[in-house]
Amino acid sequence: MRLFDTHCHLDLYPDYDNVIDEIERAQIYTIAVTNAPSVFRRSSQIAEGARFVRTAIGLHPELVGQRYRELGLFTELLEETRYVGEVGLDFVSPDQRDRDLQKKVFRTVLERCADFGDKFITVHSRRAAGDVVDMVGGAYPGTVVLHWFSGSSKVLKRALEYGLLFSVNPAMLVGEKGRRLVAQIPLDRLLTETDGPFVKVGDSVARPHNVASVVSGLAELKNLDPVRVSETLFDNLRNALTTKRTR
Ligand code: MN
Repeated sequence: MRLFDTHCHLDLYPDYDNVIDEIERAQIYTIAVTNAPSVFRRSSQIAEGARFVRTAIGLHPELVGQRYRELGLFTELLEETRYVGEVGLDFVSPDQRDRDLQKKVFRTVLERCADFGDKFITVHSRRAAGDVVDMVGGAYPGTVVLHWFSGSSKVLKRALEYGLLFSVNPAMLVGEKGRRLVAQIPLDRLLTETDGPFVKVGDSVARPHNVASVVSGLAELKNLDPVRVSETLFDNLRNALTTKRTR
């Protein structure tokens, strides 16, 4: 099985060197997301030479209030990587000014990325799924992946109509609600992630190899052979990375 993790905070593991060794040994393609433009260079450096790691540039919505001034740096660094994340909206914050600022930043992120047409963007949408999907729209020139989607079935349906992808982590398959939501997503729109170290698998912090449990969970949920599921998921990733979309 060829495994991959499209959303992992590699730079936030205290023992990231060990995690990188594991990734390289098990050959798990990993997109290392970052939370602010100012940490992108260092995060790239820690994975320098790693064949299976790609570092993404991000500006996490929960940090936008403190870090929005780094948006210029985001734009400057954007040509250094094809991968973007973690970006998006988080409306756990009830502060309307913060929400507006997040939207402004996310709009700029989407516009700058659209200039390239081949960006792979991993997007956070907690309590803001409808707004995120509306902002991306149905003709976005790039690959947009909704990471840890937890919106309504109605928003999910719209996201599917718009051609968006969904990355699933182990925590999403634990509860009935998450499983029901994931069951509504066709296999050809799914990818795997861990969101480590923020997700736990049992008592341990998730590491990229835990995407294997997502593959088996999806196979069980969809009543399909795990090997076939892993092949389809890998095709999804490859297709996303070989497509360039223009407006
Ligand atoms: Mn994350």
